[in-house]
Amino acid sequence: MKVLLCSSEVVPFAKTGGLADVAGSLPLCLKKLKVDVRVAMPKYSCVKAAGTKAKMGKDIPVYFIENEGYFARPNLYGTPLGDYPDNLDRFSFFSKAVLELLKKENFKPDVIHCNDWQTALIPVYLKTIYNDDPFYQGIKAVFTIHNMAYQGTFSKDEYPKLGLGWEYFNIDGLEFYGMINLMKGGLIFSDFITTVSPTYSKEIQTPEFGCKLEGVLSKRKDCLSGILNGIDYDEWNPETDKELARKYSARLSSDKVYNKVALQKELGLKVSPDVPLLGAVGRLAGQKGFDILAEKIDKICSMDLQFVLLGTGEEAYHKIMQQIGAKYPEKTSINIKFDNTLAKKIYASSDMFLMPSRYEPCGLGQLISLRYGTIPVVRKTGGLADTITEDNGFVFEKYSGDALLAAIKRGLDAYRNRNAWQAMVKRAMEYDFSWGNSAKEYVKLFKKVAG
Ligand code: ADP
Repeated sequence: MKVLLCSSEVVPFAKTGGLADVAGSLPLCLKKLKVDVRVAMPKYSCVKAAGTKAKMGKDIPVYFIENEGYFARPNLYGTPLGDYPDNLDRFSFFSKAVLELLKKENFKPDVIHCNDWQTALIPVYLKTIYNDDPFYQGIKAVFTIHNMAYQGTFSKDEYPKLGLGWEYFNIDGLEFYGMINLMKGGLIFSDFITTVSPTYSKEIQTPEFGCKLEGVLSKRKDCLSGILNGIDYDEWNPETDKELARKYSARLSSDKVYNKVALQKELGLKVSPDVPLLGAVGRLAGQKGFDILAEKIDKICSMDLQFVLLGTGEEAYHKIMQQIGAKYPEKTSINIKFDNTLAKKIYASSDMFLMPSRYEPCGLGQLISLRYGTIPVVRKTGGLADTITEDNGFVFEKYSGDALLAAIKRGLDAYRNRNAWQAMVKRAMEYDFSWGNSAKEYVKLFKKVAG
């Protein structure tokens, strides 16, 4: 079984969110399952590797698609003020270059595994422009949706740049309310569609979560499934993590508190091993529920706790969060940046981890938290609903500040019972959300699709 995984971000080369974690860890497990897997991504400025090739794990080839003008930039997709205006040029170039690369390398995969709108043109090109080229005959495309809300929509005026005939610009093709929609192309032209949790695969067939593509998805529901993301248990491991002030295991999870004290010192919070520390790491976007958190922040900060946030994203949320930091300097530490090291310290040091998401395709933050014995407080949606229950976290259902507050209070009450809390931490750490099972599901699916 030969697979090419295409992604616009891949750990350890470039990362803005969970997609990079998935693209960086799934191939390692596919390889263990004897898949000849290779990876392709753009060569951004942040990619430290020299040349156009590197290795992931021991022997997984990674191909970098180069284009100085398109990819040698400070950010991947845009700035906090908005997307780069030439994203259509950038990612249509990438998609064609990936297909050309296969021929150049004489690597004919059984399946090209595409991820999100940045790679959605690959299935489209495969079934149109490249359809008559014998080299590409028989190559199948699987498209994975990591987030329905980012579809890659562009003005119709840009259509000629795609190199596709106008016969594909209609309701059964890339047309979407008069615009170009790249994800829609991916959904229609791929051989199979997956998304990153079973619950989200059902949610996206409804108007509330389908972001106006629920009709397209419902039509293809026989070729749509949800496979839960895993995390790399070697990368996220409190027993070996070099970034931690003190390493710890499920057996000795009481050692976790040394990390809290170290982080309190580092961030200028009052040093107190007993005060419950609430952490949050994530993109500051409407999806993530920081608005209901901000709505209740006065109530939250009136309680005996500390709150640490790490995130970047939309300018409006930067401001809201910075205001909270200015209002409660003693109880909060607001860090508006992207910082892998600080992220690990927060996962390890916090007692609870907040993910009040409005929607969440899978979510990795809650899985990483469990691994570090940090109890997630989550809204029951998407992958959060598939992974967190009252056994390993605190769950609320209604998207409201009150519901979030009530869940936090339940968490704080539980925290006061030290023995029960330690038992919950241990339990959380014993859950297994590594890639094992999910990688097997991908292999099964790839085999089915390849026939
Ligand atoms: P999404 O992909 O929607 O952003 P996920 O929960 O699936 O959300 O994945 C987010 C990933 O990005 C996690 O690995 C998280 O730790 C990381 N992350 C998000 N924001 C930051 C940040 N500001 N600094 C460091 N890591 C971050």
